[in-house]
Amino acid sequence: MTGAYSKRLRTLSYIVIIYMIFAFIWWAFLLFNKNQTVFDLQFQLLELQENSAEIKSSARRTLQNKYQRQVWMIYGEAGVFILSLVAGLWFIHKAYIREVKTIQQASNFLLAITHELKSPLASIRLILDTFAKHRLPAEKIQQLTKSGLEETERLHTMVNNLLLSAKLSSVYRPYLEELNVIDFFNSIIERNKKRNPNTIISFNYSDVINPKIQADKSGLETVLDNLLDNAMKYAPLQPIQIKGYNQNDFFCFEVTDLGMGIPKEEFEKIFERFYRIGSEETRKSKGSGLGLFIVKKVTEAHNGRITVDSTVGQGSTFKICLPSHSNQVVK
Ligand code: ADP
Repeated sequence: MTGAYSKRLRTLSYIVIIYMIFAFIWWAFLLFNKNQTVFDLQFQLLELQENSAEIKSSARRTLQNKYQRQVWMIYGEAGVFILSLVAGLWFIHKAYIREVKTIQQASNFLLAITHELKSPLASIRLILDTFAKHRLPAEKIQQLTKSGLEETERLHTMVNNLLLSAKLSSVYRPYLEELNVIDFFNSIIERNKKRNPNTIISFNYSDVINPKIQADKSGLETVLDNLLDNAMKYAPLQPIQIKGYNQNDFFCFEVTDLGMGIPKEEFEKIFERFYRIGSEETRKSKGSGLGLFIVKKVTEAHNGRITVDSTVGQGSTFKICLPSHSNQVVK
């Protein structure tokens, strides 16, 4: 359904519902008047009848009660009808807002992904072009090769995220194997340090009693890579802390940065697919809005749980708890 068509349909529904509300108020008013007139006439008729005062008074009371019941019936039915229409209006409005949000996110995603895919490709092309056209000193070749590799790495991560996010919506099942979290985390941290030599990443695992867990190695690697990538993006040049510990039968880890932080009202939304805080035009950092969606889905596929705590201007902590054994479920 196109945006313009759905907007027209929504406006039409609003007009019809508002018309129905007014029409109903009008009908209720007319019914009320008619009811009043009928009872006035019945009262007059009663007065004209030649009955004893006692009979008349009892008939008057019965008539009065009947009148009151009918008035309440009109109020009650009008109330239910108007409430249903207002609820209808509210549902249409909510569905519309959801649709607008989805369209906006999809368009933000397209803008972001186009940039994310095109810019490393353009850099790699330029580097290869330079190699083809110029004889360069060894030092320059090394420098260009390094930046070419970094761009390839960016492309690799982006394509991986795209493929994984498509899989996560349907066929992803974690391939569980035994991992030693200390060795595993250290190797990923080392790789990320190489990519960003100016960032300090510390790993505190003194509270890890049992370092063995059952997890999908490549899935968990993507989780940690995305959390570190975000910490480096949204807290540039700030130290990043990773803390690991066992909590009952779970292995938990926290990734903490000292960056811009996340407003509380965004805590849930940041895990939605394609969601990025702010608008694509005003956002300076690179990204597609897929990272945290993937992190959450992979965590949940392991029966794990993710939470975020953050203060704007001070930093953020993402905490993930995974069952140490595959048959556990996080309550
Ligand atoms: P991307 O980073 O590609 O935009 P993500 O899904 O990884 O997408 O994150 C969604 C949004 O959450 C980001 O756009 C950013 O606004 C916010 N966010 C994620 N991690 C952090 C962080 N460590 N600090 C501040 N904001 C963050």
